[in-house]
Amino acid sequence: MKAVITGISGQDGYFLSKLLLSKGYEVHGVLRRNSSMTNGTVAHLPEDIRKQIIIHYGDITDGNFLSNLLGKERPEEIYHLAAQSFVGYSFQNALSTYDANIGGTLNVCNAIKDYSPDTRMYFAATSELFGQPKEKPQNENTPFLPRSPYAVSKLAGLWTVRTYRDAYKLYMTNGILFNHESEVRGPEFVTRKISLGVANIYRGSGMPIMLGNLDAKKDWGYAEDYVRGMWLMMQQDYPDDFVLGTGEQHTVREFAEEAFRVIGINITWKGSGVNEVGLSDDGKTMVKVSRDFYRPLESDNYMADYSKAKNKLGWEPRVKFRELVKLMVESDIKRMNNE
Ligand code: NAP
Repeated sequence: MKAVITGISGQDGYFLSKLLLSKGYEVHGVLRRNSSMTNGTVAHLPEDIRKQIIIHYGDITDGNFLSNLLGKERPEEIYHLAAQSFVGYSFQNALSTYDANIGGTLNVCNAIKDYSPDTRMYFAATSELFGQPKEKPQNENTPFLPRSPYAVSKLAGLWTVRTYRDAYKLYMTNGILFNHESEVRGPEFVTRKISLGVANIYRGSGMPIMLGNLDAKKDWGYAEDYVRGMWLMMQQDYPDDFVLGTGEQHTVREFAEEAFRVIGINITWKGSGVNEVGLSDDGKTMVKVSRDFYRPLESDNYMADYSKAKNKLGWEPRVKFRELVKLMVESDIKRMNNE
């Protein structure tokens, strides 16, 4: 079996390439060049895994590149993970987010339709499509009410995939994935910001962690579980759309408390709004709130109903909240100690 992964240098590309190689796949990854030639999470892969991946340098906004790639390789599967994936940044640069997330996805769909119609496609949709949902938990039938340029772009991607699937009878599937994190999560995402901040404090930095809305409610799982779900979606007789999540809801505040607990610090909160701080028992400021990290529109209250994936794919998350926080903090401490 041959698979192409766009976004191989991201968090999910890291776990998915490991999974597919362990299943005996020939793995091809799309990587875009940056000026320092750093390869994102690909650099974190063990040497024996890294050297098995066949890299194609290119950008998903380049339709010719994708058409040539698909026409030449004709993979059985393509996992389209590449995206501008940071919600906050999408408010600052909506157009570049649309270019990558809408234009890039359309390019992948067209390349499959015109050059490799037997290729099965996975598209990385998101719980952000639900916006600020009133009903809880959310599943495949919950209305989409996006509240960020990122979410709008992913909604366009999801509907492009549905349209191509129906119009051209292609195997294209949408994974509506709730937040998933890991030890290789990008440092700008709140969970990793916390785990890195806690590891720094453990090493004696004394720098408080700066956060935005402490009461944002999310459903956080472990990325390794979610790439297993992506693969399962691609092995079904018919393409479909599936929600993956944990069914648990936690706030940013709880994530921070749990992360400090890993290093033996108990957090007490004082004040409110942007003046709220998280203090250790000896009165040191561990967390501060900054207006800079609030979004123009909040999107939260997420909690997944993943019963369709459980019933049809036999999928369930294995790593739960406390274990996830612990593994992220411990990994960052370990990485800093090895420096
Ligand atoms: P990520 O770590 O931000 O990785 C995104 C990847 O896309 C990176 O490899 C990035 O390359 C690549 N990319 C961005 N623009 C590109 C372009 N124009 N051409 C080629 N490559 C490009 O994201 P992730 O957490 O692995 O998530 C994977 C996918 O799932 C994304 O589409 C994301 O939106 C979606 N998703 C994620 C979550 C989550 O909680 N993680 C939840 C729901 C959906 P560079 O390294 O060069 O930047």
